[in-house]
Amino acid sequence: MSRIYLDHAATTPLSQEAFDVMKPYMLEDFGNASSIYREGQIAREALDDSKLTLSQSLECKIDEIIVTSGATESNNLAIKGVTQAWKKRHQKIPHVISTSIEHSSVLNVLKNQEENKQIELTLLPVNSEGIIEIEDIKAAKKENTMLVSIIAVNNEVGSIQPLSRIGRWCEKNEILFHIDAVQAPGHIFVSCTHWKCDLLSLSAHKFYGPKGVGALYIKGGTEIEAQIIGGGQERNYRSGTENVAGFVGLTTAFLNAQKTYAQESDRLREMQIYGKQEIETHIPQSIWNGPEIGKERSSANLHFSFPHIDGESLLMRLDLAGVSVSLGSACSSGLVSPSHVLTAMGKNDQEARSGLRITTGKMTTLEDFKTAIEIIIKTVQDLEKSSFF
Ligand code: PMP
Repeated sequence: MSRIYLDHAATTPLSQEAFDVMKPYMLEDFGNASSIYREGQIAREALDDSKLTLSQSLECKIDEIIVTSGATESNNLAIKGVTQAWKKRHQKIPHVISTSIEHSSVLNVLKNQEENKQIELTLLPVNSEGIIEIEDIKAAKKENTMLVSIIAVNNEVGSIQPLSRIGRWCEKNEILFHIDAVQAPGHIFVSCTHWKCDLLSLSAHKFYGPKGVGALYIKGGTEIEAQIIGGGQERNYRSGTENVAGFVGLTTAFLNAQKTYAQESDRLREMQIYGKQEIETHIPQSIWNGPEIGKERSSANLHFSFPHIDGESLLMRLDLAGVSVSLGSACSSGLVSPSHVLTAMGKNDQEARSGLRITTGKMTTLEDFKTAIEIIIKTVQDLEKSSFF
């Protein structure tokens, strides 16, 4: 039986197009972009061309792009980098505003920095749909607030934050604005200019690029301390030999995401509407999590709690039936802890433990999706019969 993969928020397959552009830089044109002879120049040219293309699409400048190993590194560099630089310059502890629904690569960095007395931290609540209120950001501002860090599209419930409004406010108040935009490409248009951000993190494997490569946009003039010290690559912001093939793949995949997001979102929205209706009709105890279907939600995301059954058993049975979905966030799957995102949205413990995330993507056909929804409904109904809840 062929499997139905519905976990595109965890990762996506590499597109043929991205693979094709990467291949020569892994086989023939393998040079180190820092070498000055021919092979190195070819690699450097490929890297620079990609940066130019990516910067044009992101609506920023070529020298504002840094190659990283993925968004975990981009988020670490962004947050630690600017807070450390600010602390050094001002000789006092900086205050950072973020939200309680960030990905662990932001949340744990912030908590760690707070624990080590490197920053003062305010984690804002979200409403029941997983959206932050701009008024809460305004109210949290202190005299030493220097950074606001916000997730663009939540990886669990697909909520989309009011980024350009936050960006405008940050600009007016001379506060740096970092966006974890990992789940945005291919779903909404990504623009540093429109969002008025100073830092923006990307990870290629979330939009049909390769794993282990990412980017960080750093607005010109932003003071930032490097976190990986070595040979001084990436203008000293991030040492280490650049992953040329990976970055070329990232750029091709990103361009494609920017080109196809509107059409693809419409296609996926049809499935989202269908899946929501079917599950709500056949499983009356299901709870839809996150914003209603519309412009505040990624059309690739469906998220339900089934508090009356055991979530792990559901996931295991679905896996056996050939359907790949996720329980809570993929990065923490395997751990039976309640989702911090659902908890922040006011869900009770059982609801926060029994979340099921379904995320569609390019290879999801309507036919496969309908089959998967049928399997999910049947599996939940079977579990209902044997449930102790
Ligand atoms: N931020 C968000 C919103 C994510 O979904 C992820 C990946 N799950 C990351 C950051 C980290 O990306 P990576 O694992 O590629 O470093």
